[in-house]
Amino acid sequence: MAAVEFQHVAGLRPGDPRIAAARATLLQGEHLSQEQGVPLFDAPLLELGRLANAMARDRHGDRVYFTVNRQLNPTNVCVLACRFCDYAKKPGAEGAYTMTREQIEAHVEPGISEIHIVGGLHDRWRFDDYLNVIRWVKAKKPDLSVKAYTAVEIDFFCRLTKKPAEWVLTELRAAGLDALPGGGAEVFSERVRREIFQQKIGAQRWLEIHEIAHALGIPSNATLLYGHIETRAERVHHMILLRGLEQRAPGFFAFIPLAFQPGVTGLVRRQASAIEDLKTIAISRLVFDNVPHVKSYWIMLGQDTAGVALNFGASDMDGTIGQEKIAHAALARSPVGMAEAGMVHSILEAGKIPVQRDALYRVVREYGPDGEPFAARGANGAERSPAVDSDAGDSDAGDAQAANSDAARRDVATRAAG
Ligand code: SF4
Repeated sequence: MAAVEFQHVAGLRPGDPRIAAARATLLQGEHLSQEQGVPLFDAPLLELGRLANAMARDRHGDRVYFTVNRQLNPTNVCVLACRFCDYAKKPGAEGAYTMTREQIEAHVEPGISEIHIVGGLHDRWRFDDYLNVIRWVKAKKPDLSVKAYTAVEIDFFCRLTKKPAEWVLTELRAAGLDALPGGGAEVFSERVRREIFQQKIGAQRWLEIHEIAHALGIPSNATLLYGHIETRAERVHHMILLRGLEQRAPGFFAFIPLAFQPGVTGLVRRQASAIEDLKTIAISRLVFDNVPHVKSYWIMLGQDTAGVALNFGASDMDGTIGQEKIAHAALARSPVGMAEAGMVHSILEAGKIPVQRDALYRVVREYGPDGEPFAARGANGAERSPAVDSDAGDSDAGDAQAANSDAARRDVATRAAG
């Protein structure tokens, strides 16, 4: 990743000593420590947001990325029973479903550039069934970027086939996989894992699988599921472990803090507040400083908070999604699917510049202040906006990682399949 010049960060003069210390650390080219990160949760919200926003602007100018994508959850049948999951069903239970080939192919809509595939750990599917899902969508639209299967699913495939992760990932790539989503990480805390997802892989295996993927040239995302029984210190520790992996084996496109949807789990009474959401996003930007993007995942934040987060360090709004099942099984309040125009509107409303990307963060089109894509305006003879042109050198926009693909990094479904 190209070195980032902290012009906007340098221009700030924070009054709060915790934020001033964080700024000084970043300007020295150093990472924030656990001891610096945790107290930021008690720092003034707007000042914290200003520093995170400055950091995002130093990377991306005012650009905010999104994709026109579709989420595909081929089955909710799962052999595990994570306590926080409202999505999974036991085999044969009421509401359990497994899609047919036709249903899977129907998700490949003409206008999408990315498909995001995650689901349950099916009791009767073989590895070949999971490979077929990728083969079918890729056959229907060969230029589609496929971001599929979390580390939890990859580990499950290893156990199904009795093969190492290198082999499983190589087979998936041969079928058409472009990137891994970031789900299944939850919170890297053994205490939390024992409490609410003890059957699921822990930090060590999740990090190992993503490290192997990155070494094979398969990019990925990383998530954090917050707002349940974890502590703020555990959130920061989680970010620092991911930051360490990115240093050892670069390949993350984005970090996605996922606001836990209480649903009917009974774990907590209500979702984290918008203030807690914004602080978590801002601190993510500051602590996990070597990943290109922090996402404002509107499905779980809701459209309003997700829009505000674009001025708190987030530089990606994920995608239009289509029909999302996992968060909505947990009663997420966001609309099911956000049309492209709505996404552009939300980004413009935040005072940012919408940029549509594909799964590998290759720019599909940019939009002007009127919400019209430049490609269309160009066809009518209109000129590009200087505001956008001035960001053309943005170190991440055309990032070399595009060569790999990033789509990788997102994920929502985190909760599913981990
Ligand atoms: S979170 Fe994933 S692994 Fe756990 S029960 Fe739900 S679908 Fe299964």
